[in-house]
Amino acid sequence: MMNYEYDYIIAGGGCAGLSLLYHLLNERKLAQKKILVIDKAIKNANDRTWCFWTDQSTLFDDIVYKEWKNIAIHTEKSSTVYPLTNYSYKVIRGIDFYDKVQQKAKLFPNIVFCQASIIDIVENNTKITVQTTVGNFEADYVFHSLFQPQAYSPQATDYRYLLQHFKGWKIKTPKPVFDTQTITMFDFRLPQCQEVRFIYTLPYQADEALVEFTVFGKEVLPIANYDHILKKYIQEQLNIVDFEIEEEEFGIIPMTDFQFLKRKGNRLCYIGTQGGASKPTTGYTFLNIQVESSLIVNELVSSGQPFYQAPFQRHFLLYDQLMLEIMQKNGGSIKDIFEILFKNNPIERVLKFLNNQTHFGEDLAVMWSVPSLPFLKALWKQVTK
Ligand SMILES: Cc1cc2nc3c(=O)[nH]c(=O)nc-3n(C[C@H](O)[C@H](O)[C@H](O)COP(=O)(O)OP(=O)(O)OC[C@H]3O[C@@H](n4cnc5c(N)ncnc54)[C@H](O)[C@@H]3O)c2cc1C
Repeated sequence: MMNYEYDYIIAGGGCAGLSLLYHLLNERKLAQKKILVIDKAIKNANDRTWCFWTDQSTLFDDIVYKEWKNIAIHTEKSSTVYPLTNYSYKVIRGIDFYDKVQQKAKLFPNIVFCQASIIDIVENNTKITVQTTVGNFEADYVFHSLFQPQAYSPQATDYRYLLQHFKGWKIKTPKPVFDTQTITMFDFRLPQCQEVRFIYTLPYQADEALVEFTVFGKEVLPIANYDHILKKYIQEQLNIVDFEIEEEEFGIIPMTDFQFLKRKGNRLCYIGTQGGASKPTTGYTFLNIQVESSLIVNELVSSGQPFYQAPFQRHFLLYDQLMLEIMQKNGGSIKDIFEILFKNNPIERVLKFLNNQTHFGEDLAVMWSVPSLPFLKALWKQVTK
């Protein structure tokens, strides 16, 4: 059994683990630390894409695969394209992200990658040990992002808890059919089945797009249902009969107001989805992970330990709780709420709101713009709990 010592062990080298590594390597005062990254997967496949909207730069701007300046929302009543001014909607491919971080890490002999399954993480007085299928490793701090959606279920009575589950096909068509300037953020023109159901489309080229069927609901569907709905949408709504599936992606993201722990004991720091970085009502996580990484790095520089004080934004938690309550009780109504939300506000105010970046006056304007009854009912439930 091995027993090597490191300053930090990054347990899970996915988005959060590798983002943290990249941020650490960019900080001169920490770049020489001995760091071990453990993941059961090699991370050499395009296993997912990360989208986000922002008016700021990130450390990963050079690998943005494509960005758009128009967002379309479709419902049975209307189809509207909203142009963006300051914000851009961007996509990063998983494979480009993994490559970029691995290439950077190769320049540092103090960084070690290990492919193994993590079995347990145990803290004692002086160290923390990660037990894996290839042996045990010790460090001063461990960063843990091993979230397992299927194994996780908070008490339904204490928290709202839904799953965002989706399947996407990257399709290629023989002829140019897609408008490459405009993403479809929500196409609600499909039966809602008491849930929130929509199609999301990223047109990479005029003859190539990621088309994704997404549900905010209680349970994952049989895989054939996603395929059936995707095929029907592509054929009947997009009028594309002839197409080839180049890649597939499937994902589950928790949507909950459960307050994920940021730490356990004195040496274990939770990051990524496991550390509560996914926005409860949208599932968007990538940008939150970048903020989290830079907060951890700042804390390590200033105090030598990683446990930063997260700014607690009670009002954003309350908005998420109200929206989750409505999604849980009457998911079918969300398409109408979203349609009005986008219609009655400047698009960038909505995007800012969904990124938890609005100030109170803007929050009021957003709240005021949507049908008040479902929100008042949800608020009443929250207040009387
Ligand atoms: C398909 C998909 C698409 C998404 N798209 C977006 C998007 O467009 N925008 C956005 O903001 N968010 C998106 N998300 C949400 C979120 O950004 C991602 O889930 C992101 O990858 C979360 O980062 P993470 O590091 O917490 O988890 P992961 O990236 O999943 O990393 C966890 C790592 O831990 C490893 N691991 C797990 N268990 C073990 C074990 N026992 N031993 C060793 N290794 C282990 C896994 O192999 C994995 O590499 C998406 C999620 C999915 C699933």
